[in-house]
Amino acid sequence: MIHEECGLFGIYANGEEEARQAIAHLCYTGLYALQHRGQESAGIAVNSNGVITSRRDVGLVSDVFTPESIGALGENGGGEIAVAHVRYATTGAKRRANAQPLVVKHIKGSLALAHNGNLTNAVELRKTQELGGSIFQSSSDTEVITHTIIQQRLKSSSIEEAVEKAMSYLEGAFSLVLMSRRKLIACRDPNGFRPLCMGKLGKAVVFASESCAFNSIGAEFVRDLKAGEIVIAGEDGIKSITAHCGKKSSLCVFEYVYFARPDSVIDGVSVHDARVRAGEILAKEHPANADVVIGVPDSGLDAALGYSRASGIPFDFGFLKNKYIGRTFIAPNQRDRENSVRIKLNPIAQAVKDKSVVIVDDSIVRGTTSLKIIKMLRESGAKEVHMRLSCPAFLYPCYFGTDIDTSENLIAYRHTLYEIRDIIGADSLGYLSIDALSEITKGCASGLCDACFSGNYPVDVSGAQLKTQFEQDIDTD
Ligand code: SF4
Repeated sequence: MIHEECGLFGIYANGEEEARQAIAHLCYTGLYALQHRGQESAGIAVNSNGVITSRRDVGLVSDVFTPESIGALGENGGGEIAVAHVRYATTGAKRRANAQPLVVKHIKGSLALAHNGNLTNAVELRKTQELGGSIFQSSSDTEVITHTIIQQRLKSSSIEEAVEKAMSYLEGAFSLVLMSRRKLIACRDPNGFRPLCMGKLGKAVVFASESCAFNSIGAEFVRDLKAGEIVIAGEDGIKSITAHCGKKSSLCVFEYVYFARPDSVIDGVSVHDARVRAGEILAKEHPANADVVIGVPDSGLDAALGYSRASGIPFDFGFLKNKYIGRTFIAPNQRDRENSVRIKLNPIAQAVKDKSVVIVDDSIVRGTTSLKIIKMLRESGAKEVHMRLSCPAFLYPCYFGTDIDTSENLIAYRHTLYEIRDIIGADSLGYLSIDALSEITKGCASGLCDACFSGNYPVDVSGAQLKTQFEQDIDTD
């Protein structure tokens, strides 16, 4: 399966005493809601009276933080500003050095920064920075962003001016939350590849990758950041810089299909609604003569519901998902990935026995998971299995913060539809069309990226490396 990029959370207490006292715990709660966006490391940095304390480590949020470690941040867990992060480590090694937020001191102050995305010019920028004397402690492109901002900070009168200038050098996908001694800043790259939204908790200002994080802390959604926008929360109130706005935006459409939580709303479109619509369209594009529609938990369930509604075939729960392990895709190699499907999903035989089954999943990457799932259904007595995918076939790699691999590693690039059907053991197979992607995201305030399906990259990727390649190259240096 595909690995998600990262989840961001930031809060500026803005004189709201309750938020100030519990700022570390609010981050912890927010990260819990964003855990699906990254399960291999977590971190929180708290700014109390201008002093930044932080904790970051490999593991789930629940592994990294205890009541004691939360209380050790800031002043007994309290402070004026905080940023937090969950990450999927793209290298095999779960390196603590790559966990975020990154906290750095420089001649004009200190900075804590968390990043979601992938720079397409990270290699070039890092080379220039290293030749200029910068020293790196991690293999993450987030450190490249941090150096770029600090270099600009040394020549700027404020942190927001530095971020604005740094954005001219950064290419690719980057949603950021960062804090200085007195300000919390959130920014979204000019293409708006990754989501980022603003909320409020009383007077406190909150930023998060997804709106579901606001619900978890009782905050109210205010708005999404525009592609290219920088929002600053500080003593002077909330300020927005839009100098980098106005470019054709390209939000990752796969956020709707798979990455985001169904209770989130991104750029005006409910993720749940988008998935249900995908299922409805799928039923029209690829009808099946079947007795029951089931979904692969979690992201296939909403689309299965849509397929059922549009086709009139009853919906049922065909799999029980083990809630106590992470997503399948956190397994680091092929063998572990294959075994973890069985640990994660168990078929509910009563729902599929002696039936012709439509099974809806979000995608097929290498085909190994689908093969296992279909085999399990047949072992449970399913007569026929018709596989439907709520997104088009992956044909091209992603350079924008996910690990959708080189074409050679994508099953749809190497095989025809009928070959894939036979490889995974399905009776029929159908993918959502590329045209349907704009239909499922109808009303979206942003343009869309569909490059991994269409090959139409919204930015130049000729010098780009996959995030995995970049980090491996650096690691082996
Ligand atoms: S290439 Fe695919 S996964 Fe990557 S940002 Fe574009 S739509 Fe999302």
